[in-house]
Amino acid sequence: MVSSSSYRGRLAPSPTGRLHLGHARTFWTAQQRCRAAGGVLVLRNEDLDAARARDDFAAAMLEDLRWFGFAWQEGPDVGGPHGPYRQSQRRNHHLAAFERLRTAGAIYPCTCSRRDVQEAAGAPHEAPPGKAWTPDEPIYPGTCRPSFAKPSEGRPVTFHTSLSPSTHPTPAPGAGVNWRFRVPDGETLTFTDGYYGAQSATAGVHFGDFIVWRKDDTPAYQLACVADDDAMRITEVVRGADLLLSTFRQLLLYRALGLTSPAFYHCPLLADAQGVRLAKRHDALSLQTLRAQGRTPEELRQDF
Ligand code: GLU
Repeated sequence: MVSSSSYRGRLAPSPTGRLHLGHARTFWTAQQRCRAAGGVLVLRNEDLDAARARDDFAAAMLEDLRWFGFAWQEGPDVGGPHGPYRQSQRRNHHLAAFERLRTAGAIYPCTCSRRDVQEAAGAPHEAPPGKAWTPDEPIYPGTCRPSFAKPSEGRPVTFHTSLSPSTHPTPAPGAGVNWRFRVPDGETLTFTDGYYGAQSATAGVHFGDFIVWRKDDTPAYQLACVADDDAMRITEVVRGADLLLSTFRQLLLYRALGLTSPAFYHCPLLADAQGVRLAKRHDALSLQTLRAQGRTPEELRQDF
């Protein structure tokens, strides 16, 4: 298919279980927005979570998506100019972004365990009324944050002068420490979401310093997502509303890397009959189960 526009969208499932109807609904919106714009749809296999990602789930993911009526122009099975389309094979892209952040003094090594963070962390402030997002992780207390680089309250930070790699030798990623991005405490970030409209959240209040590289030597989701969306020239990210707060983190990464961010469109999440958000453990609503029950994609799409 020859694209008639510069729109590039993506589906970015993680092969950590079977896809369910909630994924299908969000992806359907992504595909429709891409088709309406005459764009190119990219499928990216987000298999960075070595403990949970499985090749059999990745194969099933492609099969479920095709059965449901998805078609992509670039992806792990069809190739394309911006491959590989399997995230675990994109380490060089992720490392390049990591090095740029390190050189800019935007990140620092953190030896805190998950438990340390949980015990010392401040609870994130609740979202002010009217926000579409909810706090998703404790605010990192700053234990390992270089004290000389602490930003003053309410003022944006300039990253490039504070932590020079030549005067402060730092370990390579993979040396058993997490690396965190230092957020500009007190700065309120804003963007206009394609579905939810004007969004804002304050760094250090609603979310804190977040991990960009893990101590098991894998890139964290925030960094991999930004590096890959940029390298794959994605112009609009369509995904679930559970990632709204992550969008603010990603906007900080785009800025620190000197990159232009794509547009964002977050989709409301599907809940089950009891009002519980769908997860991959909801086997009853997995596409595999629905298909085995003889349900058709056309019929399932009527509820979207
Ligand atoms: N791979 C992520 C997930 O399955 C989605 C990431 C994204 O769309 O940015 O939750």
